[in-house]
Amino acid sequence: MNNLVRLQAKGILEFSNIKKPSSMPLNELRALFYMLEISPGLLQPNAQDQGVAQLRIKVEEWLRKVVPLIAAIRDGIPTWEAPLLSEEAIKAGQQRLQQRYQFLQILHGYKKPAHIKICKISLEEISTQKALLEEAKKLLNLRERAVKVTQKANYIVHAMNHLPSSDPWVTQVEGALEDLYHALKAEENCEKEIEVLDQLKKEYIDHYYKLHSQVRLGATAENQKTQMLRDGRFDALRQLTSIKILPAQKLKEWQEKLDQLKVCWKLNKTELEHTPYCIHCKYRPKDEAYIQPVSLAQLDKELTDLLEEWTNTLRTTLNDPEFTESITLLTAEQQELIRQFQLKGEFDLPIDIRLVETIRELLDGIYKVEIPLHRLIEMAGDGNPLTLDELRERFERLIREEVGNRPTSRIRIMLRKE
Ligand SMILES: [Zn+2]
Repeated sequence: MNNLVRLQAKGILEFSNIKKPSSMPLNELRALFYMLEISPGLLQPNAQDQGVAQLRIKVEEWLRKVVPLIAAIRDGIPTWEAPLLSEEAIKAGQQRLQQRYQFLQILHGYKKPAHIKICKISLEEISTQKALLEEAKKLLNLRERAVKVTQKANYIVHAMNHLPSSDPWVTQVEGALEDLYHALKAEENCEKEIEVLDQLKKEYIDHYYKLHSQVRLGATAENQKTQMLRDGRFDALRQLTSIKILPAQKLKEWQEKLDQLKVCWKLNKTELEHTPYCIHCKYRPKDEAYIQPVSLAQLDKELTDLLEEWTNTLRTTLNDPEFTESITLLTAEQQELIRQFQLKGEFDLPIDIRLVETIRELLDGIYKVEIPLHRLIEMAGDGNPLTLDELRERFERLIREEVGNRPTSRIRIMLRKE
């Protein structure tokens, strides 16, 4: 029976001599079967059961296509740009599809040979439906093509949003997308335009991948970065920022530059086939285009230079006679730390926090307060008995009188023997 289903010239001739049974609208049914690509041989009395079954299959197939098509053309067949159909075309198309839908519904009611025998469809109606069917086929093709092309175009549009508008690739793409839209609207097959788009996508992937590897650190560079932050220079500088005369802002700027060097070595080109940007670090050349990438080697040098600069500043400052006396007011341990630093002319890494604290204290200012011995004797009553409270009170008064309002942490008291 399969052979009968096929529309072959031989078959058509073979069955064109079917005797017309009384009251059966054979011409109309034959035209209907032709239209739906069913062999008219199935109109023979002994094949009519199968003919009706084939009719139902074809009608159901068409209903499955027409129903979503009615919904799709309501939006005018959307694309990445404007919809393909104008308002009028949508209206007219919907009307005609509704007409076709109603016709299919009638055919769907034919469940037995007895039903087709009393079929009232005219040849004229079949001819109209044939035109509608051709139109529906065209719309289906257009929609299918629009979906396929839009998927490709969406990738390109998305990719465009990641590059600066000045990028030559963007200019090329704008023209290609316009050509594609016109070809689609003109119901051309768009093959040539899709080829151009595919090529542009390939170029984009290479371009993006290259930019990504220029601005992102790979695995080796990441290790170098970690190493650089752990070798003591950065920690030393961070500790030294507590000393007011050193420009802490410089270290902050250095750190900002380092933060811009993001690490990402996971991107591969296959991922870019699906998503036009790195899914791991979301790199967007448009946003980072104006940031001058600094190399890790450059930052490493800057770190060394900064530590050297700050060391020199501190060494020169501590050699200033202004501080010579202050140094003598430090504890023996502190004096030794300073002496070692002055001797070596550099910091040992990791930096000794006690040394940083000592320098900070010195530069913040240390005030020497000398108390003559006789003042102390007077305070203690000079041989007269004092209660504990009296002694405590007199001592507090002496401190107040000698020290005044100066910050107590910067005061060093020395007893002057007479
Ligand atoms: Zn990345």
